[in-house]
Amino acid sequence: MPRPILATIHQGALRHNLDLARERAQGARVWAVVKANAYGHGMERVFEAFRGADGFALLDLAEAERLRQLGWRGPILLLEGVFEPRDLETCSRLGLWHAVHTDAQIDWLSQHKTQTPHHVFLLMNSGMNRLGFPPARYRAAWARLNALPQVDEIALMTHFSDADGPRGIAHQVQVFEAATRDLPGERSLANSAALLRHCADARVRGDWVRPGILLYGSAPDYPENGVSHWGLQPAMTLTARVIAVQHLQAGDSVGYGSTFTADSAMTVGTVACGYADGYPRHGGTDTPVLVAGQRTRTLGRVSMDMLAVDLTHLPQAGLGSEVTLWGRAANGTVLPVEEVAAAAGTIGYEQLCALAQRVPVVVQE
Ligand SMILES: *Cc1c(COP(=O)(O)O)cnc(C)c1O
Repeated sequence: MPRPILATIHQGALRHNLDLARERAQGARVWAVVKANAYGHGMERVFEAFRGADGFALLDLAEAERLRQLGWRGPILLLEGVFEPRDLETCSRLGLWHAVHTDAQIDWLSQHKTQTPHHVFLLMNSGMNRLGFPPARYRAAWARLNALPQVDEIALMTHFSDADGPRGIAHQVQVFEAATRDLPGERSLANSAALLRHCADARVRGDWVRPGILLYGSAPDYPENGVSHWGLQPAMTLTARVIAVQHLQAGDSVGYGSTFTADSAMTVGTVACGYADGYPRHGGTDTPVLVAGQRTRTLGRVSMDMLAVDLTHLPQAGLGSEVTLWGRAANGTVLPVEEVAAAAGTIGYEQLCALAQRVPVVVQE
């Protein structure tokens, strides 16, 4: 028998979340953001469920190639654009749309020999200071692109730094609007958090929205709001089993470094999941976990291949019990990945992407 650990990707949840994104987009088209191998879910595993999207957005040319091999003939957008001139040949060959965020990319385009003019998304740095032209130089970049025979469509794009938090997006929307007021072209602004929290504003919805994390059923603004608030369904479940049970007396400790010590008699389950499976090591004691669909906690340090859970108040649990590290337990109880991530000082995004190669994955309806 293989080691009892398994990740399950729920097709129904992916479809449900995409439908929800489409509803909130109110007619704007939807990019399914599938960068980082579909946020750790696997491009090939999400593809069918996301066929209903208007396009796929990602970063890596090799991932774009995989999408074309899967038979996707619709739009594909490279969110960081090209990294060197010859990437433009791949764009021409595969019909990829690409972000343009810097003068060098325009230089490369101007030298590029192609029969098929490109569709580009001109990226404005409206305040995040990561990628894009500053507002004062945006129009000049647009004019340069517009003069190139290598370019036919120019869409206008920006990205928000605080759509999930108290600062919000108003300051960036204002900068973007002011600098694009009389420019033609489709617009794309909203990530998941903007689509969930700020989509009453038609300017925020624009012509294309770009949800990522919400499609995978994780709340971008946890702990302010969780999946149940937004109606999202977690698309990944990580389960393992209890492979040993230990009975502790007061004063006994658990795991490396003896960081947890029992102050009364306890029952502890050893679970076949560790940090080499992508489970976070930084949580230590008190990270939430489900055993047989009931909520309990981890104890002590996470090892490479195992972790300990508190079974003291779960008399029906024992050797072989199903352990849900995140996602949906067999009894329907949900443990959102962002809750586990928060206990370890990180976010759902990182936790999903961290799922290790060695964990077998199944796709389920
Ligand atoms: C990753 C990314 C998104 C999606 O972000 P989520 O927070 O996962 O919705 C959208 N736009 C750009 C430019 C991105 O890099």
